[in-house]
Amino acid sequence: MNIYSYVHELKGVGPKAKEALNKAGIYTILDLLLYFPRDYENIDLNIDIEDIDEKQKIALDCTLIEVKRDVRTQTKKTLTTLIFNYKGLKVRAVWFNQPYIKMTFKIGETYKLLGKYKKKGKDLEVMNPLNACKELDKTEIIPKYNLNSNLTNKLLSKLIHGVLDNVLIKENLPLNIVDKYNFISLNDSIREIHFPKDRVTLKKAKDRLKFQELFTYSVKILMLKNHIKGDRKGIGFKISEELALLKEKLPFSLTKAQSRVMREILIDEKKTSPMNRLVQGDVGSGKTIIAIIAMFNVIKNGYQGVFMAPTEILANQHYLEILKVLEGFDVEVELLTGSTKGKEKLRIKERIRNGDPIIVVGTHALIEDDVEFKRLGMVITDEQHRFGVHQRSRLINKNEEADVLVMTATPIPRTLSLYLYSDLDISIIDELPPGRQKIDTVFYNEENRSLGYELALEEIKKGRQVYIVCPLIEENEDLKIKSVEETYEYLVEGLLKGVPIEILHGKMKPKEKDEIMKRFKVGETKVLISTTVIEVGVNVPNASVMIIENAERFGLSQLHQLRGRVGRGRHKSYCILIAKANNNVTKKRMQIMTMSSDGFYIAEQDLKIRGGGELFGFRQHGDNGLILSDFVEDIDILKAANNDAKFVVESNTMENIKICKEIVNSLENTTKYICFN
Ligand code: ADP
Ligand code: MG
Repeated sequence: MNIYSYVHELKGVGPKAKEALNKAGIYTILDLLLYFPRDYENIDLNIDIEDIDEKQKIALDCTLIEVKRDVRTQTKKTLTTLIFNYKGLKVRAVWFNQPYIKMTFKIGETYKLLGKYKKKGKDLEVMNPLNACKELDKTEIIPKYNLNSNLTNKLLSKLIHGVLDNVLIKENLPLNIVDKYNFISLNDSIREIHFPKDRVTLKKAKDRLKFQELFTYSVKILMLKNHIKGDRKGIGFKISEELALLKEKLPFSLTKAQSRVMREILIDEKKTSPMNRLVQGDVGSGKTIIAIIAMFNVIKNGYQGVFMAPTEILANQHYLEILKVLEGFDVEVELLTGSTKGKEKLRIKERIRNGDPIIVVGTHALIEDDVEFKRLGMVITDEQHRFGVHQRSRLINKNEEADVLVMTATPIPRTLSLYLYSDLDISIIDELPPGRQKIDTVFYNEENRSLGYELALEEIKKGRQVYIVCPLIEENEDLKIKSVEETYEYLVEGLLKGVPIEILHGKMKPKEKDEIMKRFKVGETKVLISTTVIEVGVNVPNASVMIIENAERFGLSQLHQLRGRVGRGRHKSYCILIAKANNNVTKKRMQIMTMSSDGFYIAEQDLKIRGGGELFGFRQHGDNGLILSDFVEDIDILKAANNDAKFVVESNTMENIKICKEIVNSLENTTKYICFN
């Protein structure tokens, strides 16, 4: 069986199952094997009658002794009753509307019935139990997967069982590492993570797979680093004389921190080896201007510059900003995004191919595309936390000589960045431009939501504008999360009646989004309700209120970034967090937000409380390729894996060279860091 073949080629996967699997991101057998349980249910087996807890699901070995006749209830339900024997007790098992269930049992045979058992006099009763023979054959731990409407635990278990019966997964860690940590084999790990024998083995499987992920990640990043630092030749740019003039013409003077970072970048530009630098700076610290100046110098050397943004809205904004800042400096700028018209696109691509020294601003569809830069000098990606190592290496492979600059507002503790970005040099803008006002942040429990909206209304009356952010609409209905649409309905008819409100969310067409954003920018729309598409970078100085619904669902760093959308003009600004604070952790987190406006402090506190997935906003996006491990929680494993990876990458034994090659090969087929052939 080839693990890269499609799941729908498996027996028993019809169109409906295929759709359900694809919806969960499962296309290949490998995807299926890497679809690890979200959690496990511990099932007690054959416990004593006294120990039975009516609220707990348990599995008892029951022997069928009698099949009762089906009964129709007054509400027209069919009741099927079978009588079993468990340790001398009578067990009445009752099913609703499943008359066919009788056929799956034979008198005299024993079955593991899984369900919640109730004591009824001297007998036991269980409603709709599951005949769990298959799943419980080897284990009392039942995997629980993330499901959607047609994706069931049963289907997943069946398919994964079927695959595992037919494959043997080859070991792919160096044997001395397996020995050193006493790891169980890769083959066993994958089996155990899906169908654990017991808790001890499950832990062993997890340990091994976490190490695997972080080892592969480290190998990848080290190879990238070697590639960059190796014999890659770059362009030694001259420092343009016009730079001084440009700085003079800026509407403000750079902060000390900005000047320092600018210097670091220009020194890199002068070097004949390619720049590979990360600029880290809190929201509003002024990263855009740094990017513009950096590119300006490249253009003045006769090369091309690319400025990539994660969203079209941002690309538009950067485009306008560049035009403004570089006005009168004879620099041409083009905007290339998903909604650029065909003809226009052709024209721009032609200029790019020609080698015209222009700045091209666009979304990262740019790099996925067939755009061929003839004289590319610099690539800048904004808000880098959306770009993984994967994209980074892709970029570098495409533009061997060009300088690479990535910018992020996510504060990354130094210990971590050492491992996460060891392929990059780091510059930090640790200062905000002068005159920034503190954004008043308040927190309301859900019941007091209207207080927040009253403040918003007052601001609107003063001429200001308001953002409202809601979490992504989740599949999981019982979480009762305020979706964008729900909030809209609730507001137009109620608290904000008569106010021009618009909705913005990720599923809209780029053009539509752009128009909505434009209307908000010019102040036609007063209130913008959106998902986190506005999280990064948008600049509307007249907006003075940011309301965040279900704030408990966001990471603190994410909240901090969202908050940074207001307080960009001269108006006093507010951030209103509305959350269901039914536990102390949430209360504490909200308190940190109301008390601090320091991105680094907030990130650190969030780390202490919740771990790293939140910090980087990775979990939501699932785009860092990690399934099991967490950069922060598992930093010890990361350190160890990084050390071992270093050794493997640097040593020249046949085994190690082969392993590195295999990792590189596997990574071409998947973006996850647990991979095998
Ligand atoms: P971010 O780092 O979040 O991307 P921006 O680059 O969008 O921040 O800058 C935020 C705002 O601060 C912009 O309106 C920008 O013009 C302004 N700004 C940047 N640097 C300075 C400075 N040195 N002095 C005053 N305002 C500045
Ligand atoms: Mg920015």
